[in-house]
Amino acid sequence: MRISAIEHDFIGVGFGPSNLAIAVAIEEQIQHGKKALDYCCIEKKPAFIWHGSMLLEGSDMQISFLKDLATLRDPTSRFTFINYLHEKGRLREFINLKSFFPSRIEYNDYLRWAASHFDHRCRYGEEVVDIEPVKEGGKVTRLQVHSLDASGRAHTRLARNVVFGIGGVPSIPEAFDGVRDDRVFHAAYYLERIEALVQRNATPRRIAVIGGGQSGAEIFMDLVSRFSDVEVTLITRGKALMPSDDSPFVNEIFSPEFTDLIYHQPEELRRATLEKYRSTNYSVVDLDLIEKIYMLLYQQQVSGNKRHALLPGRDVSEVRLGSSGVELALCKRDSSETEPIQFDAVVMATGYRRDDHKRLLGSLESYIDGYDVERDYRLRTKGDFLPKIYLQGCCEDSHGLSDTLLSVLAVRSVEILESLRDDRILLNKQNKSIQQNTGGQRCCPVEKLSPAFRVAI
Ligand SMILES: Cc1cc2nc3c(=O)[nH]c(=O)nc-3n(C[C@H](O)[C@H](O)[C@H](O)COP(=O)(O)OP(=O)(O)OC[C@H]3O[C@@H](n4cnc5c(N)ncnc54)[C@H](O)[C@@H]3O)c2cc1C
Repeated sequence: MRISAIEHDFIGVGFGPSNLAIAVAIEEQIQHGKKALDYCCIEKKPAFIWHGSMLLEGSDMQISFLKDLATLRDPTSRFTFINYLHEKGRLREFINLKSFFPSRIEYNDYLRWAASHFDHRCRYGEEVVDIEPVKEGGKVTRLQVHSLDASGRAHTRLARNVVFGIGGVPSIPEAFDGVRDDRVFHAAYYLERIEALVQRNATPRRIAVIGGGQSGAEIFMDLVSRFSDVEVTLITRGKALMPSDDSPFVNEIFSPEFTDLIYHQPEELRRATLEKYRSTNYSVVDLDLIEKIYMLLYQQQVSGNKRHALLPGRDVSEVRLGSSGVELALCKRDSSETEPIQFDAVVMATGYRRDDHKRLLGSLESYIDGYDVERDYRLRTKGDFLPKIYLQGCCEDSHGLSDTLLSVLAVRSVEILESLRDDRILLNKQNKSIQQNTGGQRCCPVEKLSPAFRVAI
């Protein structure tokens, strides 16, 4: 086991866009004269990549490039998407595209370019497996962060605080519980698994894609264009593929100011607001992609060659693995009628769970006061626990739908840093005044939302 003697101001768990945004914000704060922070981030992937298994040809960003790592906070930052284009010598050509929505492949390149400035801060290829308390004088003053590298070697680092940015873990439908088979995989592994099947000369002929959201629709179209002779079936619970709402008033829910508004709403109203706007992000598909799928299925009617299919309104009720394929029992949601269909491969585009931090914080459970976070994303902990633990990407219930997305990164990163730097919070925490010191710092956000939107919610 390797134990580092360095005591970091904080350790970032994961190095995706969330903790990258924090690294960028620290760099800028130092440029503006703030004290440097000693930190490192631990990332289980061997190098920076943003949802690498879904970097599909033709897939575009679902938010404007102006919601990059810095622009909303400081458009003059060197870490903006525009400066990335400038440094890569593509700014003029990008302008000619007349688009706010770069391809995901280009956006990954932007994020990787930004991340390359912090290689000395990130330990790639190590997975955080546990976080333990270090006690002094009856109080927990520091944390031991344990990780394992690819060869199974254990590492331990010491930190005064921890910032989570671990994203989600694949959500697997109940019917697939316990199914372990190369032919059945989640969208999070799509490209690597489909390419591995092809390399093994095991190109599937009949492929099912489960899920009526953006990833399911993208994978369906990718398979259709990747292979000339496969049959692809898209299976969805909903009756129809629904379009995502990215109209301008609705889009205001993703603005950083909205976080204050939703956080301070009474719980019932907050839940209703989240429910009302779910169709901006969940189980919905970009309209242009829906139109492409519709056109494809229509053309099949014209030609009479009905290779690909959409099976809406169905649940997978059972999975049977056999030597000749994977049999899915598909249950019609409105009649409960069940039909078995055989496939050679099944892709689950069934979303992500956002609870893995609880597993990693298991050793600290007795110090954690529920899993709610304060406005500054800090986990509520008990009085004898001094380290601050921040959560990103799993605070949708309290901070709104933008929490799992890229929209608020430029602003959230600084909110977390301000709180991290503020030692008074440790003292104030004991007399319960943390909310005034953190959430209360940002003022009158609602007024920044458009009047029409304020009326609408
Ligand atoms: C295919 C796809 C497309 C998307 N497109 C958009 C979009 O266009 N716009 C938008 O706003 N959002 C989009 N999203 C949402 C997405 O959540 C955000 O874009 C963004 O990735 C969130 O960043 P993050 O750092 O919080 O999480 P992630 O990007 O998931 O990064 C978390 C990192 O933590 C690492 N990690 C996890 N556990 C550990 C551990 N125990 N130890 C060490 N490292 C660990 C992971 O390897 C990963 O690199 C998309 C999501 C997907 C899946």
